[in-house]
Amino acid sequence: MKTQTNTMDGARLSKLGSGAFQGHFGGCPDCGDAEGPYNVGRAHWLVCPEHCVRWLIGENLFRAWRDESPEEWEATQRWLDGFRVVKPVYGDDTNPDGEADNDDR
Ligand SMILES: [Zn+2]
Repeated sequence: MKTQTNTMDGARLSKLGSGAFQGHFGGCPDCGDAEGPYNVGRAHWLVCPEHCVRWLIGENLFRAWRDESPEEWEATQRWLDGFRVVKPVYGDDTNPDGEADNDDR
């Protein structure tokens, strides 16, 4: 029922919408991909492993971080340190109530 007429920034962002949360929390500026979330404390990060970039999507959005230990957060932080912080891109800003769990249909 959702129209897929949103024009992306060229075909290079082809992965936008197929990554984590279907691009709901943005995607890599280079390819649109997103992986995560990775938690550092209550902060959630998404990354693009291919382009070594990351961006913060918010804090305490998911409960999972509470199940992780400070040691895990520290390890995640160290790992994230190798990624460049960027502004993610969003595919369809005209659909603010787009479902994060939309099943591509
Ligand atoms: Zn990328």
